[in-house]
Amino acid sequence: MKTTSSPSILIIYTGGTIGMVENHETHALEAFDWHHLQKSVPELDQFQFRIDAITLGNPIDSADMEPKDWKRMAKAIEDNYEQYDGFVMLHGTDTMAFTASALSFMLENLQKPVIITGSQLPIGQLRTDGKENLLTSVEIAAARTEDGKPMVPEVCIFFENELMRGNRTMKLNSEGFNAFRSYNFDPLAKAGIHIEYARHNILYPEKRAEHKLFPAINNISGANTKDGLFVHYNMDNHIAILTLFPGITEEVVEGFCNVPGLRGLILQTFGSGNAPQKPWFVEKLKKIISHGIVVVNTTQCPRGSVEMGRYETSLQLLEAGVLNGYDSTLECVVAKMMFLLGHNCTPEQINLLMNTSIAGEITLK
Ligand code: ASP
Repeated sequence: MKTTSSPSILIIYTGGTIGMVENHETHALEAFDWHHLQKSVPELDQFQFRIDAITLGNPIDSADMEPKDWKRMAKAIEDNYEQYDGFVMLHGTDTMAFTASALSFMLENLQKPVIITGSQLPIGQLRTDGKENLLTSVEIAAARTEDGKPMVPEVCIFFENELMRGNRTMKLNSEGFNAFRSYNFDPLAKAGIHIEYARHNILYPEKRAEHKLFPAINNISGANTKDGLFVHYNMDNHIAILTLFPGITEEVVEGFCNVPGLRGLILQTFGSGNAPQKPWFVEKLKKIISHGIVVVNTTQCPRGSVEMGRYETSLQLLEAGVLNGYDSTLECVVAKMMFLLGHNCTPEQINLLMNTSIAGEITLK
């Protein structure tokens, strides 16, 4: 895909602090419409290319986002894929990393940038970080390589001068402007006087061939567009997260065996993937797995990877049938599990795909 004309960018506004205004009675921040937001950024007119914007339903606080909202975002991209060269999505910061992770799986064979951004201060406020984040995201979405191809054909988060792979990113700061980090994968670009792209980190379509997963999935529902994008809409949210802590009781773990309809359980373990060695703990996990529930091991440490079998305390998990989550963020493993369960993969397929980097989300050594 080579483009010679000037780029066209679609901004998709979903809500979040960036577009909020203060309610004078309650003093709480409330989501506002795109026109208010646009008025606050007249600089957008200085770009010498076409920029359009749509609002996705009623703008919402991202704490209210659900898989049905991810589907609406994916649909908006599918519907506009041929008309635009890049997409900028404005989104609340609280669950931005979940959305970015989900879209990285739902938009298979993406060849155009989807840059998600937001802000810590509303765009109408004097010291807002929203303007900077929005304007740079638009510039990145429009950037091309020397041969006219999109510079970053991935789902990314741009925040405070860093462009990060979306499914590697987590929110780490509820106050500072540097709200996001990608601990286990270097940034795709840094914005200073110039925007410096780390091209060796960007997952260009040519590099993705080895990640091809769809021969492995037999139950795909989605829609093809002309440019080869394949959008997946099925996500299954019958999952739960079990965070371990010293002193966790049998009753708590037993509770997860009895959640009606549960299909996937994410274990948040210690260090490199370790869990208590108490016999009851492993027995309960085996019971959960024998019910057909997929259990994945992720670490509570933001940096580093699970290494199943490094210690006795994780070897027993491996032997019980727990899958390795490698260096995945929690946000990403939530999205990946919903995605795989949504496709009704067999346990063997889930095993294979959990051990595959589908969209650059894990580091396999
Ligand atoms: N609660 C807001 C949201 O996630 C926070 C933000 O946008 O920064 O929508």
